[in-house]
Amino acid sequence: MNEASGEFSASGGREAPIRVELSGVAASSGIGIGVAFVVDRRRVQIPRTKIEREQIEEETRRVQDALRAVRQQIEAIKGRLPHGEHRQILKAQQMMLRDPDLIERTETLIREELRCAEWAVSTVADEIHEMLDRADDAYFRERRSDIIFLSERVVLALIGENTPEIVPPPGSVVIAHDLSPADTAQLHRLQVAGIVTAAGGKTSHSAIMARSLQIPAVVGVAGVLGKVQSGEPVVVDGVRGVVIVRPAADEVVSREGERDRYNAFEERVQREHAFPAITQDGLRVVTRANLAITEDIELGSRYGAEGIGLFRSEYMYMNREALPTEEEHYRTAKAVIRRYTPYPVIVRTFDLGSDKPSKLVSFAKNEANPAMGLRSIRLALRERELFLEQLRGLLRAAVHGPLRIMLPLVSSIEELEDGLEAVEEAREQLEAAGMAYASEVPVGVMIETPAAALIADLLAARVDFMSIGTNDLIQYTLAVDRDNDDVDYLYQPLHPAILRLIRAVAEAGARADVPVSLCGEMAADPRYTWVLVGLGITELSMSPSAVPVIKHIIRGSQAAEMRALCEEVLASNSARDASALVVAAMRRRFPEHLRHGGGAASEGDD
Ligand code: PEP
Ligand code: MG
Repeated sequence: MNEASGEFSASGGREAPIRVELSGVAASSGIGIGVAFVVDRRRVQIPRTKIEREQIEEETRRVQDALRAVRQQIEAIKGRLPHGEHRQILKAQQMMLRDPDLIERTETLIREELRCAEWAVSTVADEIHEMLDRADDAYFRERRSDIIFLSERVVLALIGENTPEIVPPPGSVVIAHDLSPADTAQLHRLQVAGIVTAAGGKTSHSAIMARSLQIPAVVGVAGVLGKVQSGEPVVVDGVRGVVIVRPAADEVVSREGERDRYNAFEERVQREHAFPAITQDGLRVVTRANLAITEDIELGSRYGAEGIGLFRSEYMYMNREALPTEEEHYRTAKAVIRRYTPYPVIVRTFDLGSDKPSKLVSFAKNEANPAMGLRSIRLALRERELFLEQLRGLLRAAVHGPLRIMLPLVSSIEELEDGLEAVEEAREQLEAAGMAYASEVPVGVMIETPAAALIADLLAARVDFMSIGTNDLIQYTLAVDRDNDDVDYLYQPLHPAILRLIRAVAEAGARADVPVSLCGEMAADPRYTWVLVGLGITELSMSPSAVPVIKHIIRGSQAAEMRALCEEVLASNSARDASALVVAAMRRRFPEHLRHGGGAASEGDD
């Protein structure tokens, strides 16, 4: 991380403190200005004593009690928060505290090695931590801090202490090595101005929490703890990923102006979230939400989404003990349909495998290359009974409203035909069983591989809709692992190959009169809205909180200028040139717009 020391300025014959500018990862958009509150947390001292055999039962019970106590602590924090993604994170942590494998391992250490409860808990946490440390996947590595925070809470509960709360005065900028999601949730209540952490990346849970609670945050600022003391003024620029310690007085004034403009812009965007997204020259763009977990179902409507463009049903198979039944698929889909009717709900059939494993579904073991292995539709066709179970539930739910079924990672006509045949078979099974089901459910495909994009015309002839999943399309086209930080710089949504593929799919859809939407992270990044609409995409599906800003951009634009920019961008021969054009255009037209904290893009624009 860079450090650029700033000006010295003379004041009253004494040197003013040195201004320091540090850079990190822009984790949550917005600008926070306040006084530093440095969190100095000492690690908990873990008692490591051996127990007697007769104490085994007692120690095991203490573990159960402590787990329950921590779940209750988290429940209390959750109860004080507004609805949103942040609550899901806390809920996931509560679920981790119920993980039977974790509990079993802890109890085994107590029973077989006669370790006291605190020692057993921390040993298991260390083992998991080590395992995550070795993970290739950035997402799993980020989960290390979850384990540390949770095990510390449990150990404190065991020794009869409460986890010390961080209580900064309102308006503070909290500076810490790392923060747990629970800490971050409390900070929201205390109205802090910003968060800076030395550890963490964009997908760390505290970053996601900060984003969801709209607290400006910069994470991964190496060495920040040694460079600032409590009480010193700090600016957190969560837009550019910059932290300024001890800014000059005139800089504070100009940053305050920037902050106020940013906040006014955000407020306006939120106020208008329910208005439709129609360009000034009359082009209607549909904005839908992506959802992952059923508890999220309110989120899309709260942010003004016109239905669900991607329901990631595979999460129903993850982090749980039993496979979802036909009945559960039916009830879940019905609940989402009820919430969004008359808008459509597009349920993607389970997209398991590769980065989304489920211990409940047998996978090809030791795949050398899981991203290219038995995943998504390939797995569904192999695990046909599971697939049919889901399809039957969905066809039954479709009686209640406009449900659509979407098949993931299709790469050939044969695969599509096999998928369509499975839908037909599920229908026949329901017919034979005398169950009520919808006979006319639209079925579509995701376009996530270059192969699918290149045969979009052939696919379009057989489906009711197509949806471009740019997260995977970029990964497979550019041969860049979407979760590998080391090749992050190559993950370029504006690469000419990607733009040409999106255009080809949009054109194939238009020729066949088959709607084409786009549901990858590109849809959520305001920098790409003009290019996507210019390419002919008029249905976008994105994380719910991005809907208001994307609608705002569309309402403030002309389709004609979007197309004109798109032509220019298509003529550029590199992602770098395309990015420069796009950023310059957006800055010109939306000077108040600053980058959305959750943006997935990697082309540097600042
Ligand atoms: C995609 O690949 O763009 C997509 C939306 O699916 P997921 O991110 O769930 O793989
Ligand atoms: Mg995908």
